Amino acid sequence: MSRLLVEKGTLLGLRSPEDIQVGTDLYAEDGTIRALGEQAARMASQPGEPVERLDASSKWIIPGFVQAHLHLCQTLLRNGPENLELLPWLEHHIWPGEAAHDADTMGISARLGLAECLSSGVVAVLDMGSIRHADALFRTAARSGIRYTGGNVLMDDSETTPVNLRARAEDGLAETERLRAFWHERERGRLRVAVQPRFAVTSTEVLLRRAAQYAAEKDLLIHTHASENRGEIDIVRMRTGLSNITYLDTVGLLTKRTCLAHAVHTEPSEREVLALRKTSVVHCPSSNLRLKSGVSPILDLRASGVRVCLGSDSAACNDHLDAFAEMQLAALLPRAANPPRTLFALEALRMATWEGAHALELAGEEGLVPSARADLALLDPERAWALPTEWSEKPYAAIVFSMGRENVFATVVDGVVRYRVNDPTVMGLKPKPEDIREAVKKLKSRM
Ligand SMILES: [Zn+2]
Repeated sequence: MSRLLVEKGTLLGLRSPEDIQVGTDLYAEDGTIRALGEQAARMASQPGEPVERLDASSKWIIPGFVQAHLHLCQTLLRNGPENLELLPWLEHHIWPGEAAHDADTMGISARLGLAECLSSGVVAVLDMGSIRHADALFRTAARSGIRYTGGNVLMDDSETTPVNLRARAEDGLAETERLRAFWHERERGRLRVAVQPRFAVTSTEVLLRRAAQYAAEKDLLIHTHASENRGEIDIVRMRTGLSNITYLDTVGLLTKRTCLAHAVHTEPSEREVLALRKTSVVHCPSSNLRLKSGVSPILDLRASGVRVCLGSDSAACNDHLDAFAEMQLAALLPRAANPPRTLFALEALRMATWEGAHALELAGEEGLVPSARADLALLDPERAWALPTEWSEKPYAAIVFSMGRENVFATVVDGVVRYRVNDPTVMGLKPKPEDIREAVKKLKSRM
């Protein structure tokens, strides 16, 4: 049984602007917040397992960030071609790189990515994985202590998918089922398997329909990309006569368990379908800018009733896995529209935390209250360059507009401290530079 006492922090539950408790103790047991205030200190002093303590005086405690769209297999492909759009970038850099992995390089790639996430206050990720070596991803996720939802990626279309990344629909789904049988709900439920057709372009209709059916039977999340790039949308329209989102709906992939990365280019009618199906959209603004895809109209999506959360996509198209960067861009980009529009800091913070948790079906009770999950990011406003914070009554704009991951003091997942400031190794998870270089050398030699 894990026990944790976080002492004298300012709790920002993010349920409403007023959801703030200053200088309060928080006690968690077995991954769940059990008590606040005096009661917390009393419970921590009772005999039992040793209590892990965090001195949080002058720290701000928020629900941890959720990275709702990642490719951990691409962390080793960081800092690649600078000037390619999505389809040629996939063809020339990503797919050859993914195909070159073995289980060892996959493990290094995942360690590097998850260490970066944990040191940035991230408590849960949804990871697209690759066609092979998903076990290495799950093993690494188990070691890291993070909440990990992932699996193998499904690609079966012979016209668009390179032969070394292709698997027939039944073979790809058999691999997902093998992973589900072994990994799903392990590590106290922190590991989960998702059904992951890469996108409509690399999928036959048979694959998409079977994936939807299988996910419904097993009650699994569906994770895919959609309407990221105009070239992608043109291919789908040419092949099916339908808009991308309409096509995904026709094959049954749009559900309340579906997380759709990007949705940069959507018509009002498509946004209505997404809202009707309760499908979540994962906004990845850095990646969308880096690959020249465009800017997702997230305020229109939200106004249509679509849940929008945030993701960094991959280190190969970003090129950092930093929840703060995505939150800042999400809040800033609407201000560049004509006429300018506003997404307030608290809304951006909610997108980075609770909306992501809901999209991944992790939320449970919202707020930092007894019975909620003890998944926390502790922020230190006195580190780096966030002071002064006195000009605003509320702390949200300071977090979104002036803080960065250098302000993360600790990350707690499932009631256990998984990162503390001043530990650059992230508890030994981060690979050594020479191991990273060696792994990249291996990938290059096979590409
Ligand atoms: Zn992606």
